[in-house]
Amino acid sequence: MSLTKLTLKGALDGLSKREFTSVELTRAHIEAVEAARPLNAYILETPDKALDMAAKSDARRALGEAGPLEGAPLGVKDLFCTDGVRTTACSKILENFTPTYESTVTSQLWRDGAVMLGKLNLDQFAMGSSNETSYFGPVINPWRAKGANPNPKAGLVLAKLVDKKYPEGYDFLTPGGSSGGSAAAVAADLCLGATATDTGGSIRQPAAFTGTVGIKPTYGRCSRWGVVAFASSLDQAGPIAKTVEDAALLLTSMSGHDPKDSTSLDVPVPDFTQFVGKSVKGLRIGVPKEYRIDGMPAEIEKLWQDGIAWLKEAGCEIVDISLPHTKYALPAYYIVAPAEASSNLARYDGMRYGLREDGANLTEIYEKTRAAGFGDEVKRRILIGTYVLSAGYYDAYYLKALKVRRRIAEDFDHAWEKCDAILTPTAPSAAFGLGENSSDPIAMYLNDVFTVTTNLAGLPGLSLPAGLDANGLPLGLQIIGKPLDEATVFSVAGAVEKAASFSAKAEKWW
Ligand code: GLN
Repeated sequence: MSLTKLTLKGALDGLSKREFTSVELTRAHIEAVEAARPLNAYILETPDKALDMAAKSDARRALGEAGPLEGAPLGVKDLFCTDGVRTTACSKILENFTPTYESTVTSQLWRDGAVMLGKLNLDQFAMGSSNETSYFGPVINPWRAKGANPNPKAGLVLAKLVDKKYPEGYDFLTPGGSSGGSAAAVAADLCLGATATDTGGSIRQPAAFTGTVGIKPTYGRCSRWGVVAFASSLDQAGPIAKTVEDAALLLTSMSGHDPKDSTSLDVPVPDFTQFVGKSVKGLRIGVPKEYRIDGMPAEIEKLWQDGIAWLKEAGCEIVDISLPHTKYALPAYYIVAPAEASSNLARYDGMRYGLREDGANLTEIYEKTRAAGFGDEVKRRILIGTYVLSAGYYDAYYLKALKVRRRIAEDFDHAWEKCDAILTPTAPSAAFGLGENSSDPIAMYLNDVFTVTTNLAGLPGLSLPAGLDANGLPLGLQIIGKPLDEATVFSVAGAVEKAASFSAKAEKWW
């Protein structure tokens, strides 16, 4: 079997049994990454660094000093600052930004022995649901609908496209977003796992679109230090992986208290892998009636029912619950997130970071730099955010949205009196076509309908692949847990994964 087909767990076992070295494993991944350039998942490949890290890892292992992720090659979403390695947030304004420090989350992965293959594409500043807002062009989903015939050469052309001007006649799919590069790279075996971030669904929706597993932990589990900020009260890091167990392995390494992030939680981090495979007998699983939205495809409803049946069979009790404020979640999110973004992105002024355009005076430098440096979606968010925070509208929009946010959190507080975890679909559709929603921001925002609630309430949410639609595309189920109860989320996910026995892979066409 090709080394890139292994799961993270499988690779770690093989490394510890000396079946292959990290250098061999890393080299196999570097070759796969080079062959997959039409997907545009990596925007920066760091093969020399990877081989150097792998060689050091092999040396550590020889001395008996193997860490929990020793020798495993991973991809890093280009929102995580990496010391000495360009970090762009897939924006023009940071096109030439090279940090002199490492994000806490990635430094913990390297501490545990992992190897960095390169930086992964994303929606610009993590704003988007399709990876199409990236300054480096869209990522192409390795999955294709039955009968579709994407041409790898066209993929390379598309990969270079900026500003979403798609030539006619291609039927590529988006991998979702904003962590589209992370999800595509994991799905196409271009790394054993990847870091990602989730502000409103950016780990879980791309995971669902690519047949991978992604978890956004409880707000505060993973440090935000060194992660380019989008909306600080919602942003969380987490992994995208091939299996639930792999996600647990990665999250265990990524989590932990960090004094450099004032919202980081000082709580113990269990070894999350011990909960995967644990019996779920007697657990109460909530099914929220408000998530049964109009226009949801019958296939997604069917998948949800399958999930319910599997958990029943595994001994869970299924309970109907109500999360009455769900319908206000998207509008609240699309006020709170842009508000925080407009404030966070004020730092890109042409003085301190990245791009600077010349101007006659300071104001003109700001205006020209920001006009040239930000893409359309980012500008849209800054405009909305500035508007809802302005003196005349603050109470009517921002404050109102904060009140709604509180209600949504209270909905969950009440739900936990009746259940231990919640089961929902991850997204209202399977992967859609490149360009299909990009001219309609509202249609794009609807993607987040099942995922934003957990960000607003700070709860953990995991997506795992559970079936295919009629076009042969993966669909995901989401498990939402109580605050800091990733343990139960992993147990339930393990049970669903076992019952679904999802083994489909994107057929290689690139
Ligand atoms: N799609 C959502 C947005 O565009 C969520 C993005 C994210 O989670 N980073 O804001």
